Amino acid sequence: MTHGPFLRSPVLLVHGGAWDIPPDQLQAHTFGVIRAADVGYDLLSRGASALAAVEAAVTVLEDDETFDAGRGSFLTADGRVQLDALMMDGATLRAGAVACVEKLKNPIQAARLVLERSPHVYLVGQGAEAFAQKNGMALIDNADLVIDRERDRLQAAKARASAGIPDSTFAGDPNSHDTVGAVALDADGNLAAATSTGGTLNKTPGRVGDSSVIGCGGYADNRSAAVSLTGWGEPIMKLVLGKWAVDRVPLLGPEQAAEDAIAYLHARLGGHGGIILLGPDGRFGMAHNTPRMAWAVCDEDGVRTGTHVAEES
Ligand code: ASP
Repeated sequence: MTHGPFLRSPVLLVHGGAWDIPPDQLQAHTFGVIRAADVGYDLLSRGASALAAVEAAVTVLEDDETFDAGRGSFLTADGRVQLDALMMDGATLRAGAVACVEKLKNPIQAARLVLERSPHVYLVGQGAEAFAQKNGMALIDNADLVIDRERDRLQAAKARASAGIPDSTFAGDPNSHDTVGAVALDADGNLAAATSTGGTLNKTPGRVGDSSVIGCGGYADNRSAAVSLTGWGEPIMKLVLGKWAVDRVPLLGPEQAAEDAIAYLHARLGGHGGIILLGPDGRFGMAHNTPRMAWAVCDEDGVRTGTHVAEES
C-alpha cells in the first residue's frame, strides 16, 4: 500500500449485516468484510475518491455469497432475487439508487451510474435494468443470482409460515440481516456512502426496504457524516434513520450518534439493526442491538475487524 501526501488520512468502514451470525459463519463474515475493506482502502490510499472506494468495497461484498447482496441473496416469496442499492456523494449530495432489479450482478455499480449519468435519484425494476444496460452493464439471468442455500432457506421459511410460526423480527431470528454497506472519507476530505441488499427472506415481490432509500439505509453529506444501516428495514424507513443519525453527528460525534440511533430505533418501534457512521474529521461510530454485526475499519492504523462493536477499542 502506498500513502500519498494526503490532505487527510483516508478512512473506510464496511459492514456485512447485523444479526445473530452463527458460529460456523463467523469466519466467512469476518474474512468477507476484511477483503472488502482492503480493496476499498487500497483505492483510497492511492488517491481514489470516497465514491470509488465504497463502490469497490460493496462490489466485493456483493460478489461474496456469504452476504445478502448480489448472488446468494435471500429469495422473494416466488423464489427470485430482487436487489436494492444506494450510493451517495457527500461533496455534492448527488445520489443514485436502484431497487427491485433482477438482472444485475452488481446493483451498486448501477446505483453509481444513476448518480453520475442520470438526472434522477432512483430507478426501479426494468427501467433501472434498461438504464444500466444502456450505460454498459451486462444483464444476466435471475437464476444466476440464486443459490441452493437460499432455495432451502426459502422452503424452511414457507414451512414455518404454513405451520403458523410467525417470523420473529428480533435478534436470534433464523432470518439474517446480511445487507452490506460502506462509508469512506477520502484524501480530499469527501465522504461517500453505499448500501446494497437482497432485502428480507420470503419478501413480497416488489417490496423495497430501507437500504436503497435515501436517508434511510444510507446518506452522505460532507457537512455532517456518511452512514450505512442494516437491519429490519420497515422500522428503519419509518424513522428515516440514516438522516436522523447523520444530523446528530456535528453535535454529538459519530460514536454517540450511532448509539443513539440504534437506541431510538428500538425505543420508538422495537426495531433492530446496526449502523456505521463516519464524520468528515475521520472519527467514526458503530452500533447494533443484534447479537453481532460484521464490520471492518481501515485507516492509517491498519485494519481492524470484528463481529461485535465491543471488539473495537
Ligand atoms: N435492511 C434490509 C432490508 O430491510 C435487510 C438487512 O439489513 O439485511 O431490506
